[in-house]
Amino acid sequence: MTECQVYIDYNATTPLRAEVKAAMITDLDVYGNASSMHAHGRLARARIEEARASVGALVGAPPERIIFTSGGSESNNTVFQTMRQQGTAEDGHVLGGKSEIITSAIEHPCVLNSAMFLKSLGFKVTILPVDGQGLVKLDALKAALNENTLFVSIMMANNEIGTVQDIKEISRLVKEAGAFLHSDAVQAVGKVPVDVDELGVDYLTMSAHKIYGPKGIGALYVRKGAPLLPLIHGGHQEDGFRAGTYNNIGILGFGLAASLALGELGSYSRHTAALRDRLRDGLLKRVPDIKINGHPTAVLPNTLNVSFPGAEGEAILLSMDLEGIEASTGSACASGSLEPSHVLMAIGVGPELAHGSIRFSLGWGLNVDDIDYILQKLPPIIMRLRSMSTLR
Ligand SMILES: *Cc1c(COP(=O)(O)O)cnc(C)c1O
Repeated sequence: MTECQVYIDYNATTPLRAEVKAAMITDLDVYGNASSMHAHGRLARARIEEARASVGALVGAPPERIIFTSGGSESNNTVFQTMRQQGTAEDGHVLGGKSEIITSAIEHPCVLNSAMFLKSLGFKVTILPVDGQGLVKLDALKAALNENTLFVSIMMANNEIGTVQDIKEISRLVKEAGAFLHSDAVQAVGKVPVDVDELGVDYLTMSAHKIYGPKGIGALYVRKGAPLLPLIHGGHQEDGFRAGTYNNIGILGFGLAASLALGELGSYSRHTAALRDRLRDGLLKRVPDIKINGHPTAVLPNTLNVSFPGAEGEAILLSMDLEGIEASTGSACASGSLEPSHVLMAIGVGPELAHGSIRFSLGWGLNVDDIDYILQKLPPIIMRLRSMSTLR
């Protein structure tokens, strides 16, 4: 790694917080199986229940409505599989019950691909369009909702452009139609206030590694009375909803990360927004003809997505990497694919411009000097790449 390391890819993942890491290392010796009756088991169990309360508190939910999973992807899949079993027969074909699901064009691949899976089983899937700033078109939602709608899944905040949806209003419409509402809030928690009752969601997804916790652990909030079927069958852990010996170290780290995130919500938002604004304004001043993607106000404080016409995204990333700057094109999950970002396409950025777009996502590890370093290094990179593409 180069000396001037500027990691600005916090929506892909975050480093472990020092406090979280220290607590996890200490608890590596808490080896009891949390399902055992003896003292070692009870100690492990107590830690898990403490963490459950902290994770619940982050979204305004009582601990008993929180199920631990292996991460955001598993939480989202659990909801889709539960819904599948609400409306389908054993052979996978839609029987009676409701058979329509609604989601949006800018969801994370683990939601979109789950929706496509249900479609292959016979569900009718409606993918809602978004406007040029990434907000789900509510008239399209109204038009799609009907008495046959089983559930709606719309993310709270987008990982690529940061746009934050009006989940409260979406919930009002979805409840009127008598359907369930799920929201992937992986990018929202820890950055903007999240309260499951105020939002009116039935299911809400979280992941630890996006909020300075460990990878491989996440949670699903399930409203009392909403159906839930296990993705993993086995023992009676998580009241039978998620079998398998507890990942107690991961859960401990998640709980601590959640309580830190809740306590620092305001300062985190101020810290990242100030740096994001400095980066945005500096780029607008130094690089002609760029475009900021996403919503100007309904947006995560830490996310900045910029299109650089005339430069190619992968080339920008490689050039930045040589200077020790680590950002991304679109989402980490989509990198390595040659397809332009489905999120940028959905907000009307053409394929060529989408290929020349960079996501900067900020976090605790950055300061003003890091932003100024980017503002010093990036403009000449763009100018060089643009002149090369003109030569071609
Ligand atoms: C990262 C992410 C996920 C996946 O979470 P994992 O814990 O990595 O499985 C899901 N949704 C969004 C919006 C994400 O950013």
